[in-house]
Amino acid sequence: MLAEKGEGMYDFAIVGGGIVGLSTGVALSKHYPGAQIVVLEKEAGWGEHQTGHNSGVIHSGIYYKPGSLKARFALEGSRSMIDFCQEHGIEHEICGKVIVATNPEELLLLDNLYQRGLDNGLGINKIGYGELKEIEPHVNGLAAIRVPMAGIVNYKQVCETFASIIERQGGALHLNTKVGNIVESENEAAIETNRGTFYSRFLINCAGLHSDRVAHMGGVNTQLKIVPFRGEYYELKPEKRYLVKHLIYPVPNPAFPFLGVHFTRMIGGHVEAGPNAVLSFKREGYKKTDFNLKDFTEVMTYPGFWKLASKYWKEGLEECVRSFSKEAFVRSLQQLIPEIQSDDLEPAPAGVRAQALKMDGSLVDDFHMIAGRNSIHVCNAPSPAATASIQIGKAIIERIPDQRHLKAQAIS
Ligand SMILES: Cc1cc2nc3c(=O)[nH]c(=O)nc-3n(C[C@H](O)[C@H](O)[C@H](O)COP(=O)(O)OP(=O)(O)OC[C@H]3O[C@@H](n4cnc5c(N)ncnc54)[C@H](O)[C@@H]3O)c2cc1C
Repeated sequence: MLAEKGEGMYDFAIVGGGIVGLSTGVALSKHYPGAQIVVLEKEAGWGEHQTGHNSGVIHSGIYYKPGSLKARFALEGSRSMIDFCQEHGIEHEICGKVIVATNPEELLLLDNLYQRGLDNGLGINKIGYGELKEIEPHVNGLAAIRVPMAGIVNYKQVCETFASIIERQGGALHLNTKVGNIVESENEAAIETNRGTFYSRFLINCAGLHSDRVAHMGGVNTQLKIVPFRGEYYELKPEKRYLVKHLIYPVPNPAFPFLGVHFTRMIGGHVEAGPNAVLSFKREGYKKTDFNLKDFTEVMTYPGFWKLASKYWKEGLEECVRSFSKEAFVRSLQQLIPEIQSDDLEPAPAGVRAQALKMDGSLVDDFHMIAGRNSIHVCNAPSPAATASIQIGKAIIERIPDQRHLKAQAIS
């Protein structure tokens, strides 16, 4: 369907049909019943990028700085996500997880993490060697944090349900529709796509790996760049799944934004190991050989990247080694489960994280939204944004200036 000037004027246009865009669509249709909403997604299906390539974990919120949006939204969002799955019959499981210290140096970090979890309001407990062995008999560890409320779900199924709710409420859903330019004027945004121009009073950019570019199209200076970090996985062969009973995580390096390779039981019964975190030479580059000159050049000419690289060159190098050497990957996994062998693992599809990086080389830690004239741009929604997506959608609505004409419509 093509929207011509003067007809098809929408109240809200959402760019990006990942879990954040779709959850925002659901929140808008609840908050403004009767509003004209359109979702524009360039792929042929929903949740085809970060959302459809993630670990499927419903995070508890233990890792994040107390008071941050990540901490608040993960805690509230995980409950909302579980309620949503229950209400809509979406398969999920609250299987719980353990975060395991495997050497004495990690014990202090484990204590700090435990305290952070308590500060974030979580009902977690610390366990020793004996209890850990009861829960996860194949895991090697000195001590662990048990996080009973962590769970798993298939976020693509959640996206399908979000999309059908938007449609039922009268929203317009457009797949295969790539936004190429945005012209924001006083009262509307003209959104140019490969399928014609859509007009909307308000625009919400949830374009994930392309969110900085979509913001720039709308004339917003984001002062950041999205840097793609690929996360590669292996899958445990079916006869080895018994080694993993729950979700098994290492103690993360607090200076690094990624959680370290871990074991995740997935909906469907399989078990994945990963992800690592390597710079991708293409924003949607799922294979090691994927390369896009524009994406690569943008990163290489961005001063923030070189500042980041000079700080984390050692971790970056280790991640690269782990990417190219299965043996190195297996060695990391063996710290958690010593009996895992290279032959127990088969390569599994990778994901790419959209991580915002500032000019000064610092990674944007928290979820980050930027207001335009008649727009909001979600420019950093990395993990746990799938868990927190319902809360992020609500937070976006709170940031939209009051749409009085729509409220009047809803009341009348
Ligand atoms: C490897 C990995 C593991 C993760 N594990 C977890 C986990 O276990 N739990 C968790 O909570 N989070 C996890 N995350 C994070 C989570 O997946 C993301 O935070 C979340 O999916 C972000 O959703 P999104 O809608 O912002 O982005 P996306 O899902 O990437 O959606 C953005 C959409 O915008 C579309 N788009 C982009 N540009 C345009 C354009 N110009 N026109 C139209 N459409 C456009 C894209 O096609 C895409 O569909 C993980 C992420 C990765 C990569």
